[in-house]
Amino acid sequence: MKKKMNGMPVTREENFPEWYQQVVKSADLAENSCTRGCMVIKPWGYGIWENIQKNLDEMFKDTGHVNAYFPLLMPMSFLEKEAEFVDGFAKECAVVTHHRLEGDGEGGLKPAGKLEEPYIIRPTSEAIIGDSYSRWVQSYRDLPILINQWANVMRWEMRTRLFLRTSEFLWQEGHTAHAYKEEAQEETMKMLDVYETFVKEYLAIPVIPGQKTPDEKFPGAVDTFTIEAMMQDCKAVQAGTSHFLGQNFAKAYDISFQDHKGQEQHAWTTSWGVSTRLVGALIMTHSDDDGLLLPPKIAPQHIVIQPIIQKEEQRWDVLSYCENLKSMLKGLRLGDVKVRTYIDDRDIQTGHKSWDNIKKGVPIRLEVGMKEVQQDTVCVKRRDQGPKEKMLVDKEEFAGMAEGILKEMQENLYQRALEFREANTHEIDDLDMFVELYSEGHHGGFAVVPWCEEAIDHQVLSDLKVTPRCIPFNQEGVEGKKCIFTGKDATHKVIFAKAY
Ligand code: AMP
Repeated sequence: MKKKMNGMPVTREENFPEWYQQVVKSADLAENSCTRGCMVIKPWGYGIWENIQKNLDEMFKDTGHVNAYFPLLMPMSFLEKEAEFVDGFAKECAVVTHHRLEGDGEGGLKPAGKLEEPYIIRPTSEAIIGDSYSRWVQSYRDLPILINQWANVMRWEMRTRLFLRTSEFLWQEGHTAHAYKEEAQEETMKMLDVYETFVKEYLAIPVIPGQKTPDEKFPGAVDTFTIEAMMQDCKAVQAGTSHFLGQNFAKAYDISFQDHKGQEQHAWTTSWGVSTRLVGALIMTHSDDDGLLLPPKIAPQHIVIQPIIQKEEQRWDVLSYCENLKSMLKGLRLGDVKVRTYIDDRDIQTGHKSWDNIKKGVPIRLEVGMKEVQQDTVCVKRRDQGPKEKMLVDKEEFAGMAEGILKEMQENLYQRALEFREANTHEIDDLDMFVELYSEGHHGGFAVVPWCEEAIDHQVLSDLKVTPRCIPFNQEGVEGKKCIFTGKDATHKVIFAKAY
């Protein structure tokens, strides 16, 4: 096959991980920093994150939550209070042991002022928030507490990949406390549902909601629920999690209250989070060999107008036509999202500019040269079609059709991702088929298999580097089946995949 001149230097087929890096780089989303495992998020990438924040935040508020902020550092002893929690996070904690620097006598610096008790940088905030809640909650009248925090956290990850897994990442973490178990369980499911809806409607990513198997639970949680997405290389991404923490953290951090009858009770708590990993999932779900492809609802900009000025004397005519076109497009909407248009008047070669905007995934490009000015038209190019496909339409007509094109693009991307996932999801009742699916030279994908709890830690899974993604809510057809790993009666159907 002839190699494309201007798309990604490698295709998805040739080398998926390298293709991913190239998409991130050429769309100018982010870069590795000099701080190990931490990334610099550049304006185009941060624009995507801002849209994720804005829309999710709205959904949190609509479901009764408010935002607050808690400290980045917490005393180390806070972490010690919940045993499973310690086991889960201790290995990844960055620890602050000193509070100043001083000269080392050789022109350099060294840490000084050793702290009596070290601080840890939050890997998640159950502990420090639990400490506040223990003071805020006295009576059943103080409950529920429905708080979310937008923050950065730090987990000392060994193998990092931009957006998908970094040591420092941006996220939101919801932490709620309730008087009743059922209410906390309902909250856990409600937020999973918010995540599923958001990811589907804004990121155009189909996900499978379900429960984590006991080995994949959040440390200290009673139940962890997840939404799992399939990337174009058939690997899974855990796109968000919602935890029912029972009374474990309330007991550890002493969140207790007097109930209606004056009896002392421990609260029931939940926590839930999504992170900048969603940007990675977005890239790997939709992008192609030309670069980033963005669902319009989450794109930082929707329409780019590219003036083409061949002679200096045309400049004023072309640019004022572009300004006029831009103001015609003002006020367009894509559902609850305002359509954003900008004029790319950088003084660079036209082909170069076009490719730049293709690689950034701007949904619609409009080219305007003297011909368009004279005919009162625009040349329309859609990012979800080949770079050479174009449509010459009347300027007014385009203003009337732009919302429709963006809506169609949003829906098409979701549909395409859903069809891909369905084509790569297999019901498997037999271990040999399972092994074959994940062997060299096979595409992998989601395997839906009859399973029982004794299969946790089965050697085949670590050999193949396949993990249980979730117990989907739809459990139809499991009765009478045998677990493919143990041969015993299956209790559940579980979805397996290789995962990021
Ligand atoms: P957790 O608190 O472990 O349930 O994490 C909440 C969410 O944060 C997960 O569902 C992931 O999507 C995301 N996440 C966890 N670790 C990382 C990481 N190292 N980098 C980016 N996102 C992460």
